[in-house]
Order: sequence, then structure tokens, then C-alpha cells
Amino acid sequence: MQILSVASECYPLIKTGGLADVVGALPIALEKHGVKITTLIPAYPSVVAKTGEGKLLHKFKGLLFSDASLYKVKYQGLDIILLKSTELFDRAGGPYIDENGKDWHDNWKRFAVLSKAAAELASGAVKGVKFDLVHCHDWQAALTPVYMKFGNEQAQSTPSIITIHNLAFQGRYEAELFKYLDLPQEAYAMDCLEYYNDISYLKGAIKKADIITTVSPTYAQEILTPEFGMGLEGALHTRTNDIHGILNGIDNEIWNPETDPNLSANFSFKSLSPRSKNRKALEQIFGLKHSKAPLFCVVSRLTWQKGIDVLVGAFDDIIKSGGRIIILGAGEAELENQILNAARHHKGKIGVKIGYDEELSHLMQGGSDAIIIPSRFEPCGLTQLYGLCYGCVPIVARTGGLADTIIDANEAALNNIVATGFQFNKVSHFDLVQAIRRAIECFSDKPAWNKLQKNAMLADFSWEKSAKKYFNLYQSLTL
Ligand code: ADP
Repeated sequence: MQILSVASECYPLIKTGGLADVVGALPIALEKHGVKITTLIPAYPSVVAKTGEGKLLHKFKGLLFSDASLYKVKYQGLDIILLKSTELFDRAGGPYIDENGKDWHDNWKRFAVLSKAAAELASGAVKGVKFDLVHCHDWQAALTPVYMKFGNEQAQSTPSIITIHNLAFQGRYEAELFKYLDLPQEAYAMDCLEYYNDISYLKGAIKKADIITTVSPTYAQEILTPEFGMGLEGALHTRTNDIHGILNGIDNEIWNPETDPNLSANFSFKSLSPRSKNRKALEQIFGLKHSKAPLFCVVSRLTWQKGIDVLVGAFDDIIKSGGRIIILGAGEAELENQILNAARHHKGKIGVKIGYDEELSHLMQGGSDAIIIPSRFEPCGLTQLYGLCYGCVPIVARTGGLADTIIDANEAALNNIVATGFQFNKVSHFDLVQAIRRAIECFSDKPAWNKLQKNAMLADFSWEKSAKKYFNLYQSLTL
């Protein structure tokens, strides 16, 4: 089975969040099922620096009036097609934002062209290249099923899947831009792109893809409600029979505490004591005083979604309760400043690094005692899964994938030795602080804490089960 996967990020080539991890992991996980996934991503300069130019596959005569060509490369076991366009992708800055943190003004076009290129591939435009199914990820690839439905016979008859990694990002633009998308007028309609007199790329995919998946069973339910549906719950309700929630897995080769080269000391669930060396390394990196007090960490985008404002409000309580905290992240300027101020105020007890640092994120999971994830909504979440795997006990809000993956350390779960972390119900100051206090209390009972860590490390969130679910979906659409 030949699948074309379409996305704006793919680890280890380009990553801003969990989307990249999943897009990079799926091809490897599905290989065992005889599925060959080729991933189409934009040729950002940082990607080409890693892969090299590659082999020219196709030169388009112009996609939405932009220069565009496709190059084939292989990188660390992944089959990649790079979409090259000097006008759209050959620039410094991030995949979505410029160096000043502002969205690229032409994102609507950049990702419309990505989708158009994918649809062209599905339509047989490139000699000798044929796909049985197209799997699109998030709004950046969401026009693909729309272009396919309005494409030639081959494109129309090729099945498509849209996976929603985060419904908050929808690719919504003013209707004025529709005329540049090279689609027939009927695509600007209620059952396609039209959305409150604007256009929404994601709505187009929700209406036109054959199957919609999202990244956890709980989030698949939540997005049907006004609270989590972000305005698209109505559109999603028209597709309830086609929505599937499949949990993300983690790549146990990249995230393995026994072999991880980013750790100062490797360890396993059988021997947790080397973790203390990682803890010491973290104390040094973050300028904390050496102490036996529990060390909490946060590795996250610093945004409202992630509940970081509530976390900042809880800093004083964490310190008063005897905890310490280290934070790695980047995001909203105001939150970054609040965290930097708190670190200055609680010198030696709160440490912060603003920015993105893949290696450090591994060390934080391998040396901190617990990771705090107070998300207001969380489609799946990966950091709690990495936490489990590294014995860094997750303290999470009960929502989306966090609810699906962490077993709260209540009395019954502790007695039955199944608890893997702490959950709290609402993202409020009170509930968060309560959960942190419960963790600190448990931490003071060393045997109980060690059991919790071991349970966490034994929880299996490898890709195995989820890959099978994707395979079943692929099969159901292609047989
Ligand atoms: P989201 O995709 O919503 O940001 P996830 O939990 O699904 O959240 O995935 C986040 C991914 O990005 C994880 O792999 C996490 O380790 C990583 N990450 C987030 N922020 C940083 C950072 N500042 N430095 C390094 N890795 C980070």
C-alpha cells in the first residue's frame, strides 16, 4: 500500500510541536504492516540543509502562480518529497512565523500550494508516481481533499484522511482570497470551504475527506461540543460516523532512557538511582541550588491553551509547599516575561530557558521528578507520554489525551498499583495547586513514589497499537 502523507512539519527534519513527532513516526510504525508512506513537506532552508537538494521529481508549470517543483530525498529511513518554491519557502524564520514572531502574510498561499501539490501527486500528474491514499495533517494540508474532490477522476477516486492534531488552528481567511485558490465556485459553499462568510481550510477537509481522525478518543468526543469544537462542532456533527480518535504513540528509539545520549546518566525502571545525576545536571543548567526537594518541570509552548497563565499564578504556592520548578518553552511574550520575572524573584528555586531545545527537553524528562501539564485542552499531548517513559511523573489536567493516558494516583489506583500520575479536574489555581500538593506529599513517601515512577515507566505507549488502528483505517478505504 502506497500512502502520501502531507504535512508542514516532520521530525527530525523540522519540528515546532507534536505534529512533527507523529508525522515522522507514522512511516516507521506502519512499515511493519507493509505500508509505504512518502511524506510531502515544504523545502524550508533548514530542511534542505539536512537533506541536500535531492533528485528532481517534477517541475510544475506554476501552482497558484507560484514556482514549484518536487524533489525526492531519503532521510533517516524516511521517504520524503520536498516541495520547493523560492517565492514561498526559501526564507529565514520559522515554518509559520517570521523572525519577529508574526505570521507570514502569505501563509494562506504557502499551504494552499502545499495542498495543491499533494492533490497533483494524487491525480497522477507525476509520471510513475501513484498513491492508494492521501493522509493529510492539520490545516496546512487541509485543502488537499478539497483539491482532490474537484480534481481529475484519479484524484477524486483516491481516498483521503484528515488528521486533526489541534482544532484551534483552522486556516481561516477572508473570502476575498478564494478567487486565488484555483477552485471552482462551488467549493465556496456550506458543505465545503465557506465558514461564516470566510473560508476555512480545515472545514473544507472536514467536509471532503473520507475519514477524519484526531489524536485521542476523548478529544474525538470533546470536539463535538461547543466548549472544544472551536466553532467547527457543527461541521463535525455532520461527520460523526467518520470520526476516529487514535492515540499518538511515542518513538521508543528516540525516547529511551536506557540509551538516550542527551542524558547525563542512563537508567531503566529497574534502576532509577542514576536519575539523580540528571537532576544535578539540571540544577546546574538552570542555576538552582542543590536540594532534595521535588523538582517539577514544564516543557511546552507558553500559551493560553497550555494553561501557562494558571501555572504562573501557582509558582508561589509551589515554592511555599517546598517544590522547585524549571521551565523550557517559548510563546506569548507576556507569559515569557512573567516567567522570567518569577525566576528572578525566586532565584535558585525557579529556573527558566526561553527557547526551543530538543536535547534539553530530554534531560528535563530524565532528571525532573514530575512534569506539570495544565492544558485547557490537549488533543493528545506527547510530553506526558515522554514523562511516563522517563519516570518523570505527569501532573495533568483531565482533558483530551491527558485524560486518556494518565491514571490518577487516587487511593484505589495506588492500592492496586496502577497509578501513573496525578490528574486534576479543572484548570484553576485551586485544582492545580491541590494536585501539586498531592504530588509533593506522595514524593515524601519514597516507596510510594518509586512505585508510581515504575508504573509510569511500564505503561506502554509505543506506536504498536495505534499503528494497527491506522492500518485498519487505510485498509477499510483501499480494499
Ligand atoms: P503541542 O504539539 O501542542 O505543542 P505536544 O505535547 O503534543 O504539544 O508536543 C510538544 C512537542 O514539542 C514535544 O515533543 C515536546 O517535547 C516538544 N517541545 C515543546 N516545547 C519545547 C521546547 N521549548 N523545547 C524543546 N521541545 C519542546
